[in-house]
Amino acid sequence: MRAVVYRGANNLRVETVPVPRIQSDEILVKVAVCGVCPTDIKKIQFGTVPPPRILGHETAGTISQVGARLRGFRVGERVALHHHVPCLDCHACRHRAFAQCLQYKRTGITAGFEPSGGGYAEYVRVMAPVLPGVVKIPAGNTFIEGAMLEPVNTVLKAINRLSLLSTDWVLVIGQGPIGLLFTRLLALRGMRVAASDLLPERLTLAKRFGAAAVLRADERGFCANAMRLTRGQGLDAVIVTVPSDAAVHQAQELARGAGQVLLFAHTRRGVWTQMDLSTVCVEEKDLIGSYSSDFTLQQEVAELVFSRRLDVRELVTHRFPLEQTEKAIQLAARPAADSLKIVVAQDEGESGKSRI
Ligand SMILES: [Zn+2]
Ligand SMILES: [Zn+2]
Repeated sequence: MRAVVYRGANNLRVETVPVPRIQSDEILVKVAVCGVCPTDIKKIQFGTVPPPRILGHETAGTISQVGARLRGFRVGERVALHHHVPCLDCHACRHRAFAQCLQYKRTGITAGFEPSGGGYAEYVRVMAPVLPGVVKIPAGNTFIEGAMLEPVNTVLKAINRLSLLSTDWVLVIGQGPIGLLFTRLLALRGMRVAASDLLPERLTLAKRFGAAAVLRADERGFCANAMRLTRGQGLDAVIVTVPSDAAVHQAQELARGAGQVLLFAHTRRGVWTQMDLSTVCVEEKDLIGSYSSDFTLQQEVAELVFSRRLDVRELVTHRFPLEQTEKAIQLAARPAADSLKIVVAQDEGESGKSRI
């Protein structure tokens, strides 16, 4: 089969590799769509993981083989996958810190080499520990919607880390695909969202996604304008969806006393910054983070996306064929005015009708 193999920093190659062989308690899935995620971009650009690997973890496709001992799955079923599933039983899981669970940290989907998601390949092997993370895609929904379950889950998990009351003001810094998901999900929960970004096109979209106010992040008076929304009280929460230190400092300034600042994009290790710690100790502003998904939200996320109460289709602006995965990653790394979520899509060609 064809696969995009990561061979080192900024080195992706389209290669022919063996179709993964499954065990009797595993399934093989023919990949239809795999979303390009910023965490993959980071690994590829900075070479933060040892090669060779086949990356890509926001995967949806069709079951093409079911292990002999396995019940509950059928060849031909359209499914969305989760590459991490917690054990629900360890110390971390009992604290609902699922992303710190040892089983969770082991990637359970592979297209070959060290298991790394494998979505940038024609087929993936789904191992037993992550089978509870397989979600069936309803007939009326697309593979793209299936591939969006994982990113939506990570956003909903982060929102659940906030202690908000309805009509609270939340500033979401950055209106890329993740920021827009925050905007929409917070609006659905009855929060008033102030959305900021550098690109006016994204602010227009943020309004459609339910933002009560939009702010150009580079305009003079940005902080004053954000404060004015809350009559000078400060924001109840500020979510930073861009890996910018300046944004964190702004967030820390704009949060009200005992408000919360949530980091969602600072995933790169070794990045240091200075901070006035009295804002945490005296002003009681919580600085928190959220990473990865929450298995217990899987059903809620599937209902939100498949019912289209959260319509993710508008977020996907570009599709690239598998051979052009590198282009897809380059575009995702340097977003243009008209680019949001980017996916690698392999057309199924089922009776000439694509359901991507
Ligand atoms: Zn992701
Ligand atoms: Zn666990």
